[in-house]
Amino acid sequence: MIKRIAILGSTGSIGTQALQVIEEHPDKYAASILTANNRVEELIAQARKFRPEAVVIANEAKYRQLKEALADLPVKVHAGEEALCRIVQEKPIDIVLTAMVGYAGLRPTINAIRARKAIALANKETMVVAGELINKLAHENRTPILPVDSEHSAIFQCLAGEVDNAVEKVILTASGGPFRTFSHEQLKTVTKEQALRHPNWDMGAKITIDSASMMNKGFEVIEAKWLFGVQPHQIEVIVHPQSVIHSMVQFEDGAVKAQLGMPDMRLPIQYAFSYPDRLHASFPRLDFTKCTELTFEQPDTTRFRNLALAYEALNRGGNMPCIVNAANEVCVAAFLHDRISFLGMSDAIEKVMERVTFIPQPTYEDYVATDAEARRVAESLLNGSLK
Ligand code: NAD
Ligand code: MG
Repeated sequence: MIKRIAILGSTGSIGTQALQVIEEHPDKYAASILTANNRVEELIAQARKFRPEAVVIANEAKYRQLKEALADLPVKVHAGEEALCRIVQEKPIDIVLTAMVGYAGLRPTINAIRARKAIALANKETMVVAGELINKLAHENRTPILPVDSEHSAIFQCLAGEVDNAVEKVILTASGGPFRTFSHEQLKTVTKEQALRHPNWDMGAKITIDSASMMNKGFEVIEAKWLFGVQPHQIEVIVHPQSVIHSMVQFEDGAVKAQLGMPDMRLPIQYAFSYPDRLHASFPRLDFTKCTELTFEQPDTTRFRNLALAYEALNRGGNMPCIVNAANEVCVAAFLHDRISFLGMSDAIEKVMERVTFIPQPTYEDYVATDAEARRVAESLLNGSLK
């Protein structure tokens, strides 16, 4: 049986690597739906190569170009946010890979769960914003949520075969990013060019900035809570600059299991597709003669305040992680446009957390309203109309 896969965000870092996995296993997987935000040329090239059932471009201004370029192929062409949210409900799809960035991933993910498609979850922001709601819907619709984030895939792999065994804690590894050894003074003046140079992983711009600021790790702590049902005190972060151990699980007898490998997202993507099986992969292997030093250090939440803010949001619960996510999306976009300093991002996020209405038990509509309000407050802080 060929599994038919919808890739939301097929032109991005995760999306293109997912297509490499599909290309390696044409007898197992087919790219049935491909979607992109703006990069129409890449989407056209992908559609010509993979011959999906349908493509969606979120930016409606690019519809004509896409439609004309694919006119000779039996590929359905759609445009707009609404089409993107609905396409996941199409019948011939088995797995939806959520590989788009940010809050925009929430609604299509909800629709895919309601249509009972298995979710291969790369878009961690969905779990950060609305993990409780996503879990409830997945449970009601008996839909699996398979982690793609490398840390969560590592934990998921460590948990295989441990069904009834109690987990004491999960240990998320963090590379520490490009500024791991920078002092607070040095962090004041770092630029986006420096922040975009991640030492170990080649990823989209938003997650690369989040990795430099450690907001990414904070989000992964929240993601771990909802994916694995652990409490905040059971989630530990340890800085491991070599990125060889992708994460670990400690069981109640003290045993620690770890998953190791090259820093290559194709493995967790493929595992999400093939679970519970493993498939042969041609990707490079870990060479222990080259990684003779594996080191570990405590994360420093004084220099990297975002990690502390994410734990605070997790402990406060309700719509607080949604507030942090929206504020962070606004701040990262502003940082990429030189409108805010690196450390200014944490200050702004903290202020937004204080100012947006707290809702202890949010509904979907509350998340939508919270996201909009938090973005407004963050924008007002950025343009100086709020101090
Ligand atoms: P990217 O910027 O490289 O790609 C994003 C993709 O989503 C592109 O195809 C883009 O066209 C599409 N997109 C962006 N905004 C959209 C919108 N508003 N509507 C519709 N489509 C939109 O990002 P990435 O690095 O591939 O990351 C994707 C997701 O996976 C993120 O949530 C990220 O946190 C997560 N993730 C990425 C990595 C990685 O190695 N890149 C690792 C773990 C998790
Ligand atoms: Mg990760």
